[in-house]
Amino acid sequence: MNLDPRAVESLLGFWAEAGVDVCYAEAPIDRTLPAIRSATPRPSPGAAPSAQAPIAISTAVDPPMDLDEARRAATAAGDLAALEAAITAYDGCALKRAGAKRCVFSRGHPDGPVMVIGEAPGADEDAQGAPFVGRAGKLLDLMLRAAGLEGRVFITNTVFWRPPGNRTPTPAEQMVCAPFLERAIALVRPRALLLVGGASTKAMLNQSEGILTLRGRWFEWRSPDGDLEIPALPTLHPAFLLRQPAAKKKAWQDLLTLVERVDRPDRPVSPAD
Ligand code: URA
Repeated sequence: MNLDPRAVESLLGFWAEAGVDVCYAEAPIDRTLPAIRSATPRPSPGAAPSAQAPIAISTAVDPPMDLDEARRAATAAGDLAALEAAITAYDGCALKRAGAKRCVFSRGHPDGPVMVIGEAPGADEDAQGAPFVGRAGKLLDLMLRAAGLEGRVFITNTVFWRPPGNRTPTPAEQMVCAPFLERAIALVRPRALLLVGGASTKAMLNQSEGILTLRGRWFEWRSPDGDLEIPALPTLHPAFLLRQPAAKKKAWQDLLTLVERVDRPDRPVSPAD
């Protein structure tokens, strides 16, 4: 195949600009798991060549075991500082061992009315240890400020370590982080959740439709114990808005919908409002 070097360079530049600075497979493979490695028998030297056994693709966690530990650690955390310490100490999420430099938990104001839940830390967040501090975060801040929400939001993500290559976190990675996120919601008790992007919306609301269909509509997030019910509004991810500036209008409408609800909580709102 004849590849035009300028086309290759331009494509790589495009991916680098989008934050993709390494090449990874679609699903994570934990090569440190002996059980998985030994599940693929090695051919003995001199043995006749046989069809290669499929490589086991693992989400690299034992969900029941790690989930129990995550639940225990999250429940024991009495405040946000203890919760951050518990997340930092937690070893059950495969992302922690997949190249992330540090745990990225939160920034912002726990006493504000809104909790913003993004997808996962990216390279800037991994370097600085706080969510939404890169280009997408700067746009998010500008939009929140314009909507009158500056200083009134607490910001976190569905997972607390940067996925390699900025890929979307897997449902298993989001699942083992969920007890910590749920505990954060219980401690902050925001008036509303702003779910930023499709991966956050899917994880929090268990909806299968795309973000372009779900955005701007009110849903009810329920804690697993049923104690908490909080209105949740999906919106477009600012990284998407950087690539598709024409979509900013929709995200702006969503923010106005959010402000209307948190600043006028007595106004009746139907789920499809
Ligand atoms: N994108 C996210 O979803 N979260 C961050 O913290 C940064 C970028």
